Amino acid sequence: MSTIFGKILRGEIPADIVYEDEQCIAFRDINAVAPMHVLVIPRREIARLDEMTEADEPLVGHLLRVATLVAKHEGYPDFRMVVNNGAGASQTVWHLHVHVIGGRSLSWPPG
Ligand code: 5GP
Repeated sequence: MSTIFGKILRGEIPADIVYEDEQCIAFRDINAVAPMHVLVIPRREIARLDEMTEADEPLVGHLLRVATLVAKHEGYPDFRMVVNNGAGASQTVWHLHVHVIGGRSLSWPPG
């Protein structure tokens, strides 16, 4: 299955990429909800978090570490990571992604 993020991965549509390595890329969300809003996605197409297997633990750990490094690099020591899993949790793109959000006060609980 291919998604808009697959197109970004293949360079078929542009994105503001802030980091990339052999396992993942990170790019700015087109509809940012905060001064920093970056999406970190694996190169491998995993549709949603609950499809991950035990073998994916290093990959998902890598996504969280990259997300943390991106936030620090962007100058935001306080940040939030969000993974929406399923339509009922507001997932709209069926390629696993970690939202990294910062640069404004973030209330709790989320909406
Ligand atoms: P979800 O709702 O699935 O958790 O998050 C999907 C995110 O992808 C949304 O925040 C949306 O703004 C972002 N998005 C959707 N299409 C594009 C696109 O073509 N480019 C970029 N950079 N972000 C996108």
